[in-house]
Amino acid sequence: MAGLGLFGATLPEKYGCAGIDNVSSGLIMQELERGDSALRSFASVQSSLVMFPIFTYGSQEQKDRWLPLLAQGKAVGCFGLTEPDAGSDPGSMKTRATRKGDGWVLNGTKMWITNGTVADVAVVWAGTGEGFRGFLVEKGTPGFSAPEIKGKLSLRASVTSELVLEDCPVPESNRLPEALSLRAPLSCLNQARYGIAWGAVGAASSCYDEALRYAQQRIMFDGPIARFQLVQDKLVWMLNEITKAQLLVWRLGKLKDEGTLKHTQVSLAKMNCVWMARECARMARDIEGANGILDEYCAMRHMQNLESVYTYEGTHDVHKLVVGADITGYEAFRTATKPTEG
Ligand SMILES: Cc1cc2nc3c(=O)[nH]c(=O)nc-3n(C[C@H](O)[C@H](O)[C@H](O)COP(=O)(O)OP(=O)(O)OC[C@H]3O[C@@H](n4cnc5c(N)ncnc54)[C@H](O)[C@@H]3O)c2cc1C
Repeated sequence: MAGLGLFGATLPEKYGCAGIDNVSSGLIMQELERGDSALRSFASVQSSLVMFPIFTYGSQEQKDRWLPLLAQGKAVGCFGLTEPDAGSDPGSMKTRATRKGDGWVLNGTKMWITNGTVADVAVVWAGTGEGFRGFLVEKGTPGFSAPEIKGKLSLRASVTSELVLEDCPVPESNRLPEALSLRAPLSCLNQARYGIAWGAVGAASSCYDEALRYAQQRIMFDGPIARFQLVQDKLVWMLNEITKAQLLVWRLGKLKDEGTLKHTQVSLAKMNCVWMARECARMARDIEGANGILDEYCAMRHMQNLESVYTYEGTHDVHKLVVGADITGYEAFRTATKPTEG
């Protein structure tokens, strides 16, 4: 992937990146996820959640050191925001960075971190008492470990990890100087979600292609199942939704290139495209009958992967609330924590 220039593809050529536009970078994500969501996840994390924050919030020294290595795939990165008790509400994170001498000491646990175990550098977000800050925690730092989470039935081709930080010393030169609040990690997630919306179109297309081929070849009741209206209904539903989703992400890319893209539009697209892809995977598996549960067909693998994609980078429902707040003016993230009495 590094050889093809796929990492941080929209970043400037002076860092060894491809410097391409946003529609082209979206197409990269679409084609990677046509293969497998895990492959796209790897590229999303490396590009949007590691290279983007270093490029946007890092010092010149951090950019010069890390961006060429990450672009060439000579270094792998991960992004640690989520914690065991802080998922949809990252503001409730418990990881803390405390000043010590000229540097910092980090304590806390991050959970569900893509690439964690294989990463050379982790972008870790922590509270400081003066707001949230981002730190580059390097592999081998004392007190830092990244055990792999085993037993996943989804994104099996992706490494997912815990990040454990126990009195972990991090120099001030490894703090991202321009990241001064939770807005910074949220802006990174917005970049990644843009790629996820495109990627989901690839997964859906892969399922549609396979289901169409299967329906044309599978003989039942003396002819191909593609001749049944109920099967055609499913195939047409998929084609219709994929076409609309493709237009949606293409338009998103144009707005991103113009610099007018709003994060709520990205939420709407992530929500729609991943839901659409999940439905397509289920329909494709259905058309493929019993064969559809085999790993030699892609539908069930995509379906299982898309369960993670539906949840990560903001769950489907959380994005619904983001859009809901935007159109109504009422935020529905927090409601009463106890039932009212009487
Ligand atoms: C394979 C995988 C890879 C991941 N990679 C990374 C990574 O690299 N870095 C990282 O930082 N994180 C990563 N994550 C974490 C991911 O972003 C979180 O799982 C996600 O934010 C949801 O958090 P949660 O799992 O704690 O669910 P919760 O927040 O506990 O949500 C559980 C359910 O409650 C619902 N819910 C929550 N709040 C509300 C609300 N206000 N209103 C209505 N419903 C609500 C949700 O929609 C969901 O249905 C990854 C997750 C997975 C599965």
